[in-house]
Amino acid sequence: MRKSDENLSRIIKQIEEKNRAEKEFLQSVREVYNSLPPFLEQHPEYLDKKILERIAEPERQIMFRVPWQDDSGEVLVNRGYRVEFNSALGPYKGGLRFHPSVNLSIVKFLGFEQIFKNALTGKPIGGGKGGSDFDPKGKSDDEVMRFCQSFMTELYRHLGENRDIPAGDIGVGTREIGFMFGQYKRIVNQYESGMITGKDPEWGGTLVRNEATGYGLIYFVKEMMEEKGEELEGKTVLVSGSGNVAIYAIEKAQQLGANVVACSDSGGVIYDENGINLEVVKQIKEVERGRIKEYKERVDGAEYKDGGNIWEIPCDIALPCATQNELQEEGAHKLAENGCTVVAEGANMPVTLDAIDILHDADIAFGPGKAANAGGVAVSALEMHQNASRDALTFDETESRLVQIMKTIHTNCYETAEEYGTPGNYIHGANIAGFKKVARSMDALGVI
Ligand code: GLU
Repeated sequence: MRKSDENLSRIIKQIEEKNRAEKEFLQSVREVYNSLPPFLEQHPEYLDKKILERIAEPERQIMFRVPWQDDSGEVLVNRGYRVEFNSALGPYKGGLRFHPSVNLSIVKFLGFEQIFKNALTGKPIGGGKGGSDFDPKGKSDDEVMRFCQSFMTELYRHLGENRDIPAGDIGVGTREIGFMFGQYKRIVNQYESGMITGKDPEWGGTLVRNEATGYGLIYFVKEMMEEKGEELEGKTVLVSGSGNVAIYAIEKAQQLGANVVACSDSGGVIYDENGINLEVVKQIKEVERGRIKEYKERVDGAEYKDGGNIWEIPCDIALPCATQNELQEEGAHKLAENGCTVVAEGANMPVTLDAIDILHDADIAFGPGKAANAGGVAVSALEMHQNASRDALTFDETESRLVQIMKTIHTNCYETAEEYGTPGNYIHGANIAGFKKVARSMDALGVI
């Protein structure tokens, strides 16, 4: 065993001991750190300077009570989180997730992932993440507003355009961003547009932010296909989920001529061999905030399977866009058996480590989330840019910047993987390229 490998195992073990209960966080640390040996072999100084230990420890973690009242006047209490992970490259940047599964481990894995994702965008943004175990599902607009106001009444003191800039994630869209921005504005008595992203373009947001994660994913996949000498056009695609990332991944995939035959939600899977009718999905999910099984009632020939496994459906390209650890060993085997050639993560860490190994063994190209889904936060950085300069880009200008950013991320990951001896391994490429940038900056800023 090389010395750097020995050191690495010891460091991972220490991190495991310190964060024993946080299984998702540890999964994300293992994924990144196990890619680093070829880099650390050439740069042992980062081991000596304890950069790995430092990066795995958030700069600050905030947990707080969020009391609010529902429409009947009952008092409810949720827990709020913000993990300010790393500010070597810029102010903390990353979304807020409102979902009953949110706990410290989930927020820390998301925040850790965000550090390297943000580094890959090439924008001056550090990494952070937050959220709450609040479930917006089934709540009235007024209830969501009261919750968001209470959440921001504590969180505002930690935020600011040069300090920490949240955005959306699962359960947090333009409606929630509006309520939080409104409350922040009241408290600080300033129209500080740049303190949050994902705003409506009517009041300080940027065009393309809503579409950015899904569109960016497809642009990344297009690059992966071209690298293999293939085309996206005419390919059969599975997109799991039916939230913001899934909807705009489907839209761009269809615009580029692919046939998206399935999508899903936590209730089940829709299969539509004629191609998903996106207007129906948008109506159900964006307008009615309903369940995807409704699709079957509205589109002839569509099939719905309660609790079904989307990865059983034959495809060329599989895009997990729902949530963490949704694609496991069994799903990976099915994709391999059915001849799938590309998997890319629209969600954060949707593919388990064991499933990734299976995909690699089957020679399926794998695009990790921190590269493939970086389009969302990249356009958030463009939103900050426009807020700071009080300017507004057109849709086309913003989209062409997104295309360029995704191409650059792809090239960076591809070339870094090659440089460090694992050609075609986008995980190694993304992790080494992201880590390198953060490590160099931390080193330059002293022992911080
Ligand atoms: N939540 C998104 C992500 O996972 C976006 C974060 C942002 O725009 O700050 O990258």
